[in-house]
Amino acid sequence: MTRTVTILGATGSIGTSTLDLIEREGDRFDVVALTAQRDVEGLAAAARRTRAHRAVIGEARLYGALKEALAGSDVEVAAGRDAIIEAAELPADWTMAAIVGTAGLNPVMAALRRGRTVALANKESLVLAGGLMTRVAREAGTTLLPVDSEHNAVFQCFPHDDPTRVRRVILTASGGPFRQFTREEMARVTPAQAVKHPNWSMGAKISVDSATLMNKGLELIEAHHLFPVGHERLSVLIHPQSVVHSLVEYLDGSVLAQLGPADMRTPIAHTLAWPERMATPCTPLDLATVGRLDFEEPDLVRFPALALAFQALRDGGARPGVLNAANEEAVAAFLAGRIGFLDIAFIVEKVLARYAPRDPETIDDALMIDAEARRYTESALERQAA
Ligand code: NDP
Ligand code: MG
Repeated sequence: MTRTVTILGATGSIGTSTLDLIEREGDRFDVVALTAQRDVEGLAAAARRTRAHRAVIGEARLYGALKEALAGSDVEVAAGRDAIIEAAELPADWTMAAIVGTAGLNPVMAALRRGRTVALANKESLVLAGGLMTRVAREAGTTLLPVDSEHNAVFQCFPHDDPTRVRRVILTASGGPFRQFTREEMARVTPAQAVKHPNWSMGAKISVDSATLMNKGLELIEAHHLFPVGHERLSVLIHPQSVVHSLVEYLDGSVLAQLGPADMRTPIAHTLAWPERMATPCTPLDLATVGRLDFEEPDLVRFPALALAFQALRDGGARPGVLNAANEEAVAAFLAGRIGFLDIAFIVEKVLARYAPRDPETIDDALMIDAEARRYTESALERQAA
């Protein structure tokens, strides 16, 4: 039976990995819609190859360019933010949420409200509005399938029928490219060094997050929403080889882990075939070649972003959203050469200290807090640069 699929963020790192899996099994999947923000060429090429029904570009001014790039094909063309939301609402058996950042929230909510099965890569939306999102998913009777490798690993090991059997959920972290750097060395790193992850090939924003360990912090918050065990049962373990993708410790002392190649196509395929399994072209994990697996405690002094995220998780309410927005802006400023690497966590800390809004009750509240947190971040960035 063919499965109808939509990919939100089809031109990114997760989007292209998803397309790769889908295109290898052409007859099994029917592509409803593909979206991108600016990459007209990549989007048009993917839409042609997969014979997608619709292609949507987020930047409205690019409508003409996309229309031209798809001239002579049967692909329907649309543009603008609302058009992405409409694409997310089209009937599909499976929707990949792979837009980066807060921009992914409204599209993913649109898919969930319509009861779509969502494969969730866009962790920022869950950090910003996880409580609201999981409630809508529950009410719509739909399933959120975690794509993030750690959460996908936990999902595969977790006792979904009885979470009280769990003593601890342990998220592994590679430690990023600066795992062994001193603070002095980190002060001098460039954006080019920060986006070069030792194990994974990913988009620029998440690569910087992996270098600061903010990514693991966002993932703690993500895990808190996906797996109902309470924040005190969540922990982080540094594991430089990225072979063990996460672990679930049970009350009796048993620890279940999921292992696999450091290739996002494995967790994506897990969600794409779920509850079945499908083959992937990933190089099989060869433990004899890996030889050894190392583990160590994270260093919260050298990586203050992780400590900030732990605290935001404990505080709850609007704190994770403020953390996320400030981080997104600070990372963009770092990538643009406006601030140094260590300034990222410093700026996030400043914003968290200055801006303490009330808990969001609706998605609009969450988005307002997000926007306000970005204004605070911009003024902190201006002061920092001055
Ligand atoms: P990329 O930057 O590679 O891709 C982002 C995608 O989102 C692109 O298709 C981009 O379009 C689109 N996009 C960007 N901005 C907007 C916007 N404002 N509105 C609508 N669409 C937009 O990111 P990744 O694929 O690396 O990451 C995607 C998400 O998955 C992130 O939330 C990340 O944290 C998460 N994730 C990624 C992993 C990875 O291995 N890459 C692992 C685990 C989670 P365009 O190309 O036109 O700019
Ligand atoms: Mg991850």
